[in-house]
Amino acid sequence: MDFSLSDEERAIRDTARDFITREVVPLEAEVLRRERAHGPGLDRTELRELQLKAKKFGFWGLATPPEYGGMDLPAVTQSLIWTEIGRTFVPFRFGGEADNILFHANDAQKHEYLVPTIEGERRSCFAITEPGAGSDAANITLRASRDGDDWILNGEKTFITGGNEADFAIVVAVTDRNRGVRDGGSTAFLVDRSMGWRSEFIQTMGEGGPAALVFDDVRVPGANILGEPGQGFALGMQWIAKGRYTIPSHAVGIAERALRMAIEHANTRHTFGAPIGANQAIQWMIADSETELEAARWLILRAAWTVDQGLDPRHASSMAKLYGAGMVNRVVDRVMQIHGGMGYTRELPIERWYRQVRLYRIFEGTDEMQRLIIARDLLRGYTKLGGHLG
Ligand SMILES: Cc1cc2nc3c(=O)[nH]c(=O)nc-3n(C[C@H](O)[C@H](O)[C@H](O)COP(=O)(O)OP(=O)(O)OC[C@H]3O[C@@H](n4cnc5c(N)ncnc54)[C@H](O)[C@@H]3O)c2cc1C
Repeated sequence: MDFSLSDEERAIRDTARDFITREVVPLEAEVLRRERAHGPGLDRTELRELQLKAKKFGFWGLATPPEYGGMDLPAVTQSLIWTEIGRTFVPFRFGGEADNILFHANDAQKHEYLVPTIEGERRSCFAITEPGAGSDAANITLRASRDGDDWILNGEKTFITGGNEADFAIVVAVTDRNRGVRDGGSTAFLVDRSMGWRSEFIQTMGEGGPAALVFDDVRVPGANILGEPGQGFALGMQWIAKGRYTIPSHAVGIAERALRMAIEHANTRHTFGAPIGANQAIQWMIADSETELEAARWLILRAAWTVDQGLDPRHASSMAKLYGAGMVNRVVDRVMQIHGGMGYTRELPIERWYRQVRLYRIFEGTDEMQRLIIARDLLRGYTKLGGHLG
């Protein structure tokens, strides 16, 4: 069994690392200062400038097909790059991307929504969660009623990432109450903010914040249905599936960076006449963190590999998301413990990571939902114990 990276994977990973180290990490002190003053770490123009700089390094549209100017990288390579991005807390991501389900757009929609989103001229958000339906996404009630060629949307979405800044939303709505949401009764719509929805900022323990989106008789042309009518829930699940390996890949980068800080601190901080790293209690925290990091790394890469093989990645991705999210929370907690009082201050980014990574166990499928999927697959015999080696 060969666990090494190919030359190409290594070259791309190293170039991404180089870019993050040289261009993004130096912004950290300023980002932390701005966030401490309750502002955004990077504004839209700064993010765009960084993304255009990265484009010169060759990084544009990691998951975007070449006909739209992207790289369309294999999932394993994308996972490696997301880990590099995770090494800095600067809220940066490479440009040239669009929500994966926007590629279901027809030609006119591609022109109006997909291409401008890839180019960074428009901003989207994806909205399925509602106040009464999160984990149980098939319980959504936001209604789209037909009126001639148009649809009228009424209801509310909540916790929508990017919903405060988006100029259009991909909204999953109930279009046929006689059919279940997952059985053809829901449809995805492309809804411009100018059509009348409004957003309300939601304060969270993390930086930035998601939005509640309010739809009060919002009229949407029938031409703005994304994909096929009745396909809304399936598109929603396709959107969520991508996060199941990118989120834990990001978590690996955060955990590696934080653990490196802890190792350095353990070697340089002295108590009772010796570095704290001389104590077994500290050594065990470091050893457990490294072991869990390594386990997470391979679970995630295997999930990404499963995607690249064209196999059903659901089981492997659920394990990667569940374990990766838990791992980064445990590692950051230990890193804070190793730093003592300093770890708890706002002079270091540890408390920021601590608040940030708590979300990873909640969004895009909670821990409990991942466990439910993994156990159901086994109990119903959808997946063999041991996966493709079983
Ligand atoms: C910052 C942030 C960003 C988000 N971004 C988006 C976004 O961009 N778009 C979007 O549509 N949504 C988004 N979400 C929503 C997110 O996906 C949901 O919050 C998540 O799916 C959980 O749903 P819920 O909050 O309604 O919790 P609930 O579903 O009410 O669950 C509450 C608790 O009960 C547990 N639980 C529920 N059912 C079961 C069960 N059957 N067995 C065992 N335990 C169970 C859950 O795991 C959880 O612990 C975001 C959320 C946050 C916080």
